[in-house]
Amino acid sequence: VNNHVSPIFNNKGEVDAAAIVSIDITRQKELERQKDEFIGIASHELKTPITSIKAYGQILAAMIDQSSVPPTFTQLLTKMNAQIDRLIKLIYSLLNTSRIAGNQLTLQLEPIDLNGLLEEHVRQGQLTTSRHRITFIGEKLPSVMADVERMGQVMDNLISNAIKYAPKGGDVIVRAESRGGWVRVSIRDFGVGIPKEAQEKIFDRFYRVNDASAGGTSGIGLGLYICREIISRHQGQMAVESIPDEGSTFYFELPVYTERQ
Ligand code: ADP
Repeated sequence: VNNHVSPIFNNKGEVDAAAIVSIDITRQKELERQKDEFIGIASHELKTPITSIKAYGQILAAMIDQSSVPPTFTQLLTKMNAQIDRLIKLIYSLLNTSRIAGNQLTLQLEPIDLNGLLEEHVRQGQLTTSRHRITFIGEKLPSVMADVERMGQVMDNLISNAIKYAPKGGDVIVRAESRGGWVRVSIRDFGVGIPKEAQEKIFDRFYRVNDASAGGTSGIGLGLYICREIISRHQGQMAVESIPDEGSTFYFELPVYTERQ
């Protein structure tokens, strides 16, 4: 129960009485908990079969003798494998969300140089689009303490959003710089942008800007929520600057690693 106590003054300005407003949040909390539990169980159960399906799809693709099957066969198999990858991403997002809710998101921290990791993920991102040109601008960086896998997840998410929300194509600029005790990474696109009133909300669970769903982009609004959580678990911060119809810059900052830590 949430109690709010406010004093009630008489006309001499003395406290005459107290008003107590109680709001029962138990039921609301319980519903939230049940929802998180369901998401956790469902995504966990979906993970095993989809992982097998992915493996079978890859084996089939490797086994096909291109010369003896009709071209449509190969095309359909490629499409099927791409959709399987999408489904896997979705399931992992749900799984991560329930881990965050249950405080079970674990990190394997080690000192890393973000340049190499960024270069690798920029290269991977470029493979998914021919309409965008993704450029990486780096400089010599001090190490940061980070979980390589989780950090890669953040980069993939931000780069794929930059591609997804700039449907006409264009430049995506990924930059890494050292600023005082921080390393700052920014991902800039020249896409649809984000209205001012939505700029804080996009980091909430399941929040999507209206136009995003109307415009036909797929997604469930968990990516940025997970990214911000991962960055904050690294003692860092994440934010966005954006102008509708001009583009967005997402950035995150991580503290520089010093031996004493
Ligand atoms: P999803 O992409 O699955 O909807 P995200 O959590 O990654 O989920 O993003 C939440 C919302 O923030 C998106 O639905 C979109 O409206 C907005 N958004 C995210 N990245 C960008 C971007 N680079 N440009 C414009 N809008 C964005």
